[in-house]
Amino acid sequence: MLLYSKYYGFLIIAVLLLNVDCVFAQDNRLPVPIVNASGVWLKGDLHVHSRHSTESSNNSVAKIINFSKLVGMDYLCITDHDNHVNGDVAHHTWADPEFKSDSLLLLYGAEWTTTRGHGNVFSDKSYNHQRLFDVRDDRDVNIGKVKKSLNIHLSANHPSGKDNFGFSYDLVQSIEVWNSAMWAKNANAIMIWDDMLSSGRMMTGRGGSDAHHGVPTGSEKSGPNTYQAEFNYVGTPTTWVFAKERSLTAIIEALNRGKVSVSSNPFNPRVEFYADPKGNGNFEMMMGDNAVSTGRPVKFQVQLIGNTLPEETYKVTVIKNGKQLNVYQIKGKVPITEFTDTPDVNGRTYYRVVVEGKNTDYPQVPKSMALSENMVSLSNPIYFNFDPKF
Ligand SMILES: [Zn+2]
Ligand SMILES: [Zn+2]
Repeated sequence: MLLYSKYYGFLIIAVLLLNVDCVFAQDNRLPVPIVNASGVWLKGDLHVHSRHSTESSNNSVAKIINFSKLVGMDYLCITDHDNHVNGDVAHHTWADPEFKSDSLLLLYGAEWTTTRGHGNVFSDKSYNHQRLFDVRDDRDVNIGKVKKSLNIHLSANHPSGKDNFGFSYDLVQSIEVWNSAMWAKNANAIMIWDDMLSSGRMMTGRGGSDAHHGVPTGSEKSGPNTYQAEFNYVGTPTTWVFAKERSLTAIIEALNRGKVSVSSNPFNPRVEFYADPKGNGNFEMMMGDNAVSTGRPVKFQVQLIGNTLPEETYKVTVIKNGKQLNVYQIKGKVPITEFTDTPDVNGRTYYRVVVEGKNTDYPQVPKSMALSENMVSLSNPIYFNFDPKF
């Protein structure tokens, strides 16, 4: 059995997997043996607008950062509309004296706001965003060259409906499958994601609140959109990344590689999804991993980690190649289930999971739970027979 990693294309010989580490959680969850288990789950929001987006209100950079720290975020990307500053993000959001934190990891980014749709840029360092802004109406092949030279992660935002992503998806490494607390409006984004996955693209699904409006403080005044802060703000939804370490570079790498789970708010549990392709009881694969199918059955494990509600029964839906495979009910302190399926030995197969149930309370954004309905968390896929060099 050979495992190969998503974007690096190098092979990890299965012999190396004999010495697997065990990860034990703080909250007595079952041990999950996985390869390269050294890492840390970090939570954050990848789509937030500050005062440097002209239609935002009461949302200074400091307010966003302080709120994020209050609710325990590890990282954040403030993504202001680049067209509001003619592409000069470097002298607005990033030059804001409030754009700093002693504890929160602040990615560099912006919302690439074009006539053909919106995308977010994520970077572990400052980059020349002006160049990307200046080619926004160019042919995709030329945009791709600029994007590559900038060495940035580009992500399709709210890909359907208004401002749909009218570019080639070969320009992006990820897609915003969960925009804002209003879960119901994401159905088409999920459909597009499944189409991209089914066509052989190992594309990361991620979330973003797209919050624009803060709660007024001090001399700030309420505006017509102030009410939104109670429904949708930082963390609705929350994107978890399994990073090698607590650093900006590791966050980008995890986003690139699909080590990502999305939950409806920062206090909700996240879903973790593993596979045991060798049948030896060790779940060596996790979300984002890709293995060669042997034609033998593979055991999968789904866990819900974090602030689960003790009395709640959660519904786990397994999606295989865009279609529902199975549904399970899980409950308890560490809700967990396993299932077995055989990935196609010839063609590609991917599996991902969706968890529904009652939302854990998010008192700082008190009306978000109702908008999220029963949506709790979704995983990224585990892949078989995908081409890492695609
Ligand atoms: Zn947008
Ligand atoms: Zn936006």
